[in-house]
Amino acid sequence: MTTYVFDFAQGNKEQKDLLGGKGANLAEMTNLGLPVPPGFTITTEACRAYLAQGSQPEALAAEIDEHLARLEEAMGRRLGDAEDPLLVSVRSGAKHSMPGMMDTVLNIGLNDESVHGLAAQSDNPRFAMDSYRRLLSMFGSTVMGIHDDVFSAEHDELKRRKDTTADLDLDVDDLRELVSAYKKAIEEHAGRPFPQDPREQMELAVRAVFDSWNTERAVLYRRQEQIPEDDGTAVNIQAMVFGNRGMDSGSGVAFTRDPASGSQGVYGDYLQNAQGEDVVAGIRNTVSLADLGELDPKSHDELLGIMKKLEDHYRDMCDIEFTIEQGKLWMLQTRVGKRTPEAAFRIAVHMVDEGLIDLDEALGRVNGAQLAQLMFPRFDENAERTLLTTGMNASPGAAVGRAVFDWATAVEWAERGEDVILVRKETSPDDLHGMVVAKGILTSRGGKTSHAAVVARGMGRTCVCGAEALEVDVHAGRFTVRDGKTVHEGDVISIDGTTGEVFDGAVPVADSLVVQFFEGEQVDDPLVEAVARLMEHADAQRRMQVRSNVDKAEDAARARRFGAQGIGLCRTEHMFLGERRELVENLIVADDEQGQEKALSALLPMQRQDFTEILESMDGLPVTIRLIDPPLHEFLPDLTDLSVTIALADSRGHRKKRQRKLLDAVRRLHEQNPMLGLRGVRLGIVIPGLFTMQARAILEAAAFRKKEGGDPRPEIMIPLVASVRELEIVKRRIIDVAREVRDETGVDLAFKVGTMIELPRAAITADKIAAAAEFFSFGTNDLTQMTWGFSRDDVEASFFSTYLQQGVFPVSPFESLDTEGVGSLVRTAVRLGREARPDLHLGVCGEHGGDPASIHFFDEVGLDYVSCSPFRVPVARLEAGRSALGGG
Ligand code: ADP
Ligand code: MG
Ligand code: MG
Repeated sequence: MTTYVFDFAQGNKEQKDLLGGKGANLAEMTNLGLPVPPGFTITTEACRAYLAQGSQPEALAAEIDEHLARLEEAMGRRLGDAEDPLLVSVRSGAKHSMPGMMDTVLNIGLNDESVHGLAAQSDNPRFAMDSYRRLLSMFGSTVMGIHDDVFSAEHDELKRRKDTTADLDLDVDDLRELVSAYKKAIEEHAGRPFPQDPREQMELAVRAVFDSWNTERAVLYRRQEQIPEDDGTAVNIQAMVFGNRGMDSGSGVAFTRDPASGSQGVYGDYLQNAQGEDVVAGIRNTVSLADLGELDPKSHDELLGIMKKLEDHYRDMCDIEFTIEQGKLWMLQTRVGKRTPEAAFRIAVHMVDEGLIDLDEALGRVNGAQLAQLMFPRFDENAERTLLTTGMNASPGAAVGRAVFDWATAVEWAERGEDVILVRKETSPDDLHGMVVAKGILTSRGGKTSHAAVVARGMGRTCVCGAEALEVDVHAGRFTVRDGKTVHEGDVISIDGTTGEVFDGAVPVADSLVVQFFEGEQVDDPLVEAVARLMEHADAQRRMQVRSNVDKAEDAARARRFGAQGIGLCRTEHMFLGERRELVENLIVADDEQGQEKALSALLPMQRQDFTEILESMDGLPVTIRLIDPPLHEFLPDLTDLSVTIALADSRGHRKKRQRKLLDAVRRLHEQNPMLGLRGVRLGIVIPGLFTMQARAILEAAAFRKKEGGDPRPEIMIPLVASVRELEIVKRRIIDVAREVRDETGVDLAFKVGTMIELPRAAITADKIAAAAEFFSFGTNDLTQMTWGFSRDDVEASFFSTYLQQGVFPVSPFESLDTEGVGSLVRTAVRLGREARPDLHLGVCGEHGGDPASIHFFDEVGLDYVSCSPFRVPVARLEAGRSALGGG
């Protein structure tokens, strides 16, 4: 029989699948002997069963009763007892952390009677009434589905009548009044009274937590963070401890290191006389952990001791929730904390230096996506800029956009292509839609642990929070800077999540320090130092080489500085545009071979020059040059434009012989599906002179470079091969050209001829193709198009969002390789190719070569290198190193 409920003492931190992250870590802390209020966890399995069948598994209620009875015994109190009630929290907690996305209800067990019991036992009627009103509003909104606003409106109204804005100013009579108002509101809105039976409260709360797995915001968050839809959440039932019992009590959150910068030293916020989320909700200003040290040195010291213990135990930065009840410290949550990319790199190397982890593990704790973020531009310090105010640097980045004040406007404006900055007093889970689409988030309240900060960091969104000088008026759609300017909805502002600065207008951006470092500049900065150390380790570990896709000498130079070990794809089509277009037109309209020759020999020296520069910039490293690939008509004028020109000329009686020939050619070459038409190797076979001219230009350039004392290593790559016969035909011609070049120049050249594998037929006949190819380069863009049977340009905008939404694929197959389908073709081609030719050199030049997940796949199937754009080269180096260590 399945067990659905486990006591905290029965679990451990490895059981996140079953107990959820919160449950597993509560169990771990319990077993570490930390002061954790006792409780038990209902498994994710129970949730999955509930969601699948629409009702709780039969055995569950009895199991809960059994564990509740044990909890009551341990606490010496009964749930909701009229004299001396046990109160519990019912807390959600899934495998993957989904901060604030699901529900938790505190103070379960209070009712009209037990509230008096609590008052008498605690000798604190205000505290009892405060706890009850909290239960009513939390239960009313999360369990009974009544909008939060109903309760906050009553609360605000009462405070207004008492002429205060502080919730602490409300006395027991006020709170009693609030309790009746809440009860009335519940009955009115839910059509039934608040349930007085404690066990029923618990039952309903458990169900509400299960159901909260499927709230809209939870679904949206999972999609955003790529968390599986069918995990389900666990439910933790835990004895309450009370931070709202007076000024000697309070609630707090803390990190064992700064989650924004990664600096060593604890970081946290504490709020006196507060319960649960009060501390992160921005209702009052919090104090720092150092201040807690003044208020309650004993709890403070114990807390720091526990934080140290947790960090040593988890060997990572932890975030925690704690509560102090009348001078007694309680631990309510811990987990390995989310952090900014900067913090990830810095913490990883700090921990190596502190002897907590080794370099391999440190490398496993950072990833390419984080590195890519560190390479984003930052605001240019030398540019003129107007500082509005400075808040807290909650999540790094340089964001420029129009100020908007509510999530709906953010979404609407973003949809029409505007960059927006979402400005709020504080954010709540309701704002998630807006946070997803915004370039940045700015709040006037809350610290680095506030909802805005935590969610923004998780999503990699720039965030400045707690900018207290801002008076945000959401309804009027404006904020005012104290003693200063007013910014209205639609005005452009710039926020710097690294410094916390908020600027008026659009501030220009400059290269990040990390990019400056990759460019070879001397940068003295702790982050750069951390990046450098981990890059060095990644380079030492990786098996795969990293090349870059570049067509121009200046880009090649940058790629080299960024660590590229050659060019994996040098496209040649751009070399036929601009002023050279006319030469291509001449080639196409030529009546005879002689005319073609003439056009080609005009192109030859230009091409030779292109290749000389590229080979020089990559001297000593392989340069894979792809012969011309796109359909020829792409180099010709547009059919309609040309027809119009000629019609006009006709009407004026002009004779335009060349134009007319061109028009014929354009008509002749017009294709319904150019992507599937006359292109790639097909063109090379139909107009042989084109490929041989390119081959000659490459080889002459190489011969020239060699004479100059260089070390050119050209690799000639044939695109769009489907059959080995195609390759054989063009290869024979290339070999002939090579012989001629050798005879003419007297230089003996080493070069390779290979092919792209970008058609399914090529992949599944790879053994045959390998007989004629010295290397394969997987063109995974085309291979994806050809395997799925869709053209990227046509489908991405039209139906991809629907496909993503409905889960046909979790991420676009153009972004991350479809390992199941396209990947299977790659795997097959690798196996067949190597069987036929064991020394076959294998690489990938599609955009997937710079995508972390895809890189791990290419490593696993045994490619020799990946090739990507220059800016992705460091990312690929890092991921190839991580992959070699088996990191995910
Ligand atoms: P979330 O997953 O959104 O953080 P939690 O389950 O952690 O939700 O609970 C919300 C708040 O209530 C947190 O601040 C937490 O520390 C507090 N809390 C939860 N259970 C208890 C309890 N038994 N006693 C006191 N505070 C609690
Ligand atoms: Mg929590
Ligand atoms: Mg292609």
